[in-house]
Amino acid sequence: MENVADYFGCLVFDDKLMKERLDGKIYQKLRKTIDDGEQLSLTVANAVAVAMKDWAIEKGATHYTHWFQPLTGITAEKHDSFISPSLDGRIIMEFSGKELIKGEPDASSFPSGGLRATFEARGYTAWDPTSYAFIKGKTLCIPTAFASYGADALDKKTPLLRSMQALNIQALRVLKLFGNEDVKKVVTSVGPEQEYFLVPKELYAKRKDLIYTGRTLFGACPPKGQELDDHYFGSIKPRVLAYMEDLNDELWKLGILAKTQHNEVAPAQHELAPIYTTTNIATDNNQLTMEIMQKVATKHGLVCLLHEKPFKGVNGSGKHNNWSIGTDTGVNLLTPGETPYENVQFLLFLVAVIKAVDEYQDLLRLSVATAGNDHRLGANEAPPAVISIFLGDELIGVLDAIENETEYEGAKKKYMKLGVDVLPQFRRDTTDRNRTSPFAFTGNKFEFRMLGSSNSIACCNMMLNSAVAESLKQFADVLENSDNFENDVHTLIRDTIKAHKRIIFNGNGYDDAWLEEAEKRGLSNLRTTADAMPHLLDEKNVAMLTAHKVFTEAELESRLEIMLENYVKQVNIEALTMVDMTGKQILPAIESYLTKLLTNVTMKKAISPDISCAYETANIEKLSAACDEMSANAGILERLTYHLSHIDNIIEQADFVRDEILPQMDTLREYADDAEAIVDSKIWPLPTYGELLFGV
Ligand code: ADP
Ligand code: MG
Repeated sequence: MENVADYFGCLVFDDKLMKERLDGKIYQKLRKTIDDGEQLSLTVANAVAVAMKDWAIEKGATHYTHWFQPLTGITAEKHDSFISPSLDGRIIMEFSGKELIKGEPDASSFPSGGLRATFEARGYTAWDPTSYAFIKGKTLCIPTAFASYGADALDKKTPLLRSMQALNIQALRVLKLFGNEDVKKVVTSVGPEQEYFLVPKELYAKRKDLIYTGRTLFGACPPKGQELDDHYFGSIKPRVLAYMEDLNDELWKLGILAKTQHNEVAPAQHELAPIYTTTNIATDNNQLTMEIMQKVATKHGLVCLLHEKPFKGVNGSGKHNNWSIGTDTGVNLLTPGETPYENVQFLLFLVAVIKAVDEYQDLLRLSVATAGNDHRLGANEAPPAVISIFLGDELIGVLDAIENETEYEGAKKKYMKLGVDVLPQFRRDTTDRNRTSPFAFTGNKFEFRMLGSSNSIACCNMMLNSAVAESLKQFADVLENSDNFENDVHTLIRDTIKAHKRIIFNGNGYDDAWLEEAEKRGLSNLRTTADAMPHLLDEKNVAMLTAHKVFTEAELESRLEIMLENYVKQVNIEALTMVDMTGKQILPAIESYLTKLLTNVTMKKAISPDISCAYETANIEKLSAACDEMSANAGILERLTYHLSHIDNIIEQADFVRDEILPQMDTLREYADDAEAIVDSKIWPLPTYGELLFGV
């Protein structure tokens, strides 16, 4: 067996390779661009392009692509080969600095929410040198940002990078006040835990709903579900293990730090977590991970489902965004320090996050809002749609003591005087690991748990970074003008706790009582995408996001439009798929079974009119009624989709989807699922939940 260390990152043009393959001066200049955002000169770009190309060709690559993350939720690529005709009628392999830094995909079909007039429809991609190029198949992939010719961001990477920059600027201001002169840069890091399902490919192929929408739109509950809790952390089946091993290999080659794998709560559900890394790299890596998960699955005769809710009545899949802020000197700013002074700094960053999450609950909520995730949030398997922060008893004790200037009743009963006393080390509270909290402090990082499994982590991190940047900005504004720093920082921390403690909740987030309590506290409860998304344009949100130059107002308007469009289109496809499956598969199957029952009745009665046909008759009645209902309800659903296509305001469309189409889909489904329980399994046209969930 090959040693992982030997091939880890072998498909990535990483720092080590750059150093090896670039002239010393060129390398230094490139580092300046990567570390300090200095403009890249064409000379440097040309040299880098040649080195990259030579390396890629050695690895068997023939093409290159600008790899970007448009607002459709997946990644996009358009391949160009390196070949170029030479004078002697043969070819040479070429790749220039210009081609490295800028691409012009014919991108008019990507959503722009009205940002791109058609005459400038092309848009362009620009290399993000902070994320390494890599090889996929025979293609050199260059991570890029995607923008319109007016430089409006049309992707998820650009605002993410801007938000990291915003946080960097404000965090440095605060750190300077604490005398951290050596810190040059502050970055956020993320480790996303990714959940997914694996189902047999041949069964998947028989379900149009899975193929078209990624989730089952029909399906009765199997006799056994997840009630025994026998899957979570259970031993991994050999076929799944073989998949995981293969997947890890592919990810490791791409320098992705795949670390943990285990079975999840639901049957056929699993999780993969990498070791955390800088947020924009973590984002690229997570997009790649999702893609490779799906690709490797097909090699094993499986399909990897990344939908948030593939199966009704069975736990859905989420993603946990573990997030921390750190300095280029290696300090995690969310770790309590060794000295009282460092602890004040820690507490200031802690309350900055608390304030940010409280003030921008709506932005965090909408950053994870999709049609798929709406099935999870608040459904007793994922955190509620209400955002709150879990801090653990120990830390709450500290904050209480600060707020009320009383004695801290922690493990060691210490009086907490800021700047004098040393905080206890907050290890993650292992006795009370609150899994129901949407936003939990876990020792030295925050874990945002509302993400759906298919969400790009770019979206929530751009909001989180920006909101925290805003808190830090306000803090720096006050403290930079302070004559008595120690006093003022103490007051600031205390006042912030007072003002924002409503967002802190240590209890059970799945409890209905909490929803009532949250309402009393004035926390927002945005249940669906249609409810949440329009808040993107709330005045306070626009003001904050534009002030930190993360978005322009036009970009926000376009994003709202695109996100709602995605939601509406997604549900519309689901509705049409249901109509199609009802008419072409389910009703005909029930009719076949009815024929069988009717034939039996006729034949039995032919032998003797006294033979009871109670069983047949009862089912004939039930199924005939079900067919009538299904046919009528599918008709209603179809008319609703027609009506939807005639609403021209996107917000009204989204409301219509939430209020009319989704409930009608539920109604139709109920009749079908009831019928499934009666009809002969040999006749039922769709693989059952039991087969899908226990078939691997
Ligand atoms: P779990 O939440 O399942 O107990 P862990 O706490 O071990 O799992 O880690 C979950 C994820 O958090 C991993 O991806 C890990 O790399 C990441 N993580 C750990 N420390 C940090 C940190 N300081 N900043 C960001 N992510 C982190
Ligand atoms: Mg976790």
